[in-house]
Amino acid sequence: MSTRNELQNTVFHTAILGAGASGLMCAGSFDRSKIIIEHNAKPGVKVSVSGGGNCNFSNRFVSADDYLSQNKHFCKNALAAFKPQNFLDLLTQENIRWEERAHGQLFAFGAANIVRMLVRRAQKANTQILANTQALDVRRENGLFVIDTSAGPVRAQYLVLACGGLSFPSLGAAAFGIKIAQKFGLNLIEQRPALAGLTFPKELRERFKPLAGNSLKAAVSCAKHTFTDQLLFTHEGVSGPAVLQTSLYWTAGQPVKVNFLPEEDALAFLHTQKNIAKTFTAALHGKLSAKIVKAILAGLPDDLANAPRSVLEEAARRLNGFAFVPAGTSGYTRAEVTAGGVDTREINPSTFEVRRVPGLYIIGEMLDVTGRLGGFNLHWAWSSGFAAAQALEKKF
Ligand SMILES: Cc1cc2nc3c(=O)[nH]c(=O)nc-3n(C[C@H](O)[C@H](O)[C@H](O)COP(=O)(O)OP(=O)(O)OC[C@H]3O[C@@H](n4cnc5c(N)ncnc54)[C@H](O)[C@@H]3O)c2cc1C
Repeated sequence: MSTRNELQNTVFHTAILGAGASGLMCAGSFDRSKIIIEHNAKPGVKVSVSGGGNCNFSNRFVSADDYLSQNKHFCKNALAAFKPQNFLDLLTQENIRWEERAHGQLFAFGAANIVRMLVRRAQKANTQILANTQALDVRRENGLFVIDTSAGPVRAQYLVLACGGLSFPSLGAAAFGIKIAQKFGLNLIEQRPALAGLTFPKELRERFKPLAGNSLKAAVSCAKHTFTDQLLFTHEGVSGPAVLQTSLYWTAGQPVKVNFLPEEDALAFLHTQKNIAKTFTAALHGKLSAKIVKAILAGLPDDLANAPRSVLEEAARRLNGFAFVPAGTSGYTRAEVTAGGVDTREINPSTFEVRRVPGLYIIGEMLDVTGRLGGFNLHWAWSSGFAAAQALEKKF
């Protein structure tokens, strides 16, 4: 670790702001004198809790279609240059075990192994990691980048912003990187919490509150996108994989529809049950719990045997397409990622250098590229970090 004096007298080839997924991958992928500035006490904090502690580090089926961005083709070069197999090769070199789960999701056995590997690689590639140090500002001076930090100024020829998104401030997320991008005049795409839960509007909150903690398979739709997976009721709304995926496409004011019987035509089913079961609750037994039926069909008589056509139709409509306009998302405190960010039209898609600020690079979640659930966001961090490293290696 450098002393304050040593730091001030050194000009690094590259300074990287943020020792997260993309910053560590970038640092470990080219061999020049580097410093990473990280305000957390340890590097890779978000990676270490990712995937429920087992790090869903990539996905076998990564493609550009798995990413949301205003500039759809931007991610293609980086994804082509660093594939899931490239990350698996790194794990093999380090004897780190992994497994493939449903839908091509690749998981480690313990996210700590991944963080240790990333740190080791970075250190082997001539990188000093300055933890517990906050980057406070960035300026240009005599052709160099000067980063004012809580440990004093740091000088470098090249600068990589790898500061991540705004999600999970408790894990170190901050708006600093975006503030610097703004300072350099870069266009931004509005940021919003994504891969987040959705909250019920006031009038539905009390009705669904007793269901908190219950989950079931459902098809959740918004803006022509439908996701069939687990839905979890929370104290304030809905969450779980089907909802998190939907939140990527949800914007304020848009309705969301939940199909609680995704494999069933509810109206046809209720007709077949009319002479068999006395109540809706009994008819749906085995498909939906009584508690869930009560909340969905609230206000309708439970009497299926004598239900007029209009009641049957209303019940079926709610079961196959319960529509509501969410009050909002569960917010940055619980969103897995931040959608939006630096407009990728500002960035060279092969090198990740900012077009109008030579020497400045931006990678990872700071950019307006947001992956679906299933390992795609970490894969983006690796791919973008690797691409910037390839470019920086050629710089003297
Ligand atoms: C709980 C959770 C679980 C997740 N699980 C998965 C998963 O299993 N699979 C998946 O693909 N994605 C997952 N993600 C998303 C994924 O972790 C991120 O998309 C990814 O880490 C982004 O990488 P990054 O390098 O851009 O940012 P980060 O990894 O967030 O790194 C940014 C770093 O910059 C540092 N920093 C910020 N500002 C400053 C400053 N001023 N000074 C110094 N340091 C600063 C931060 O402390 C942080 O360490 C998860 C996210 C969360 C919140």
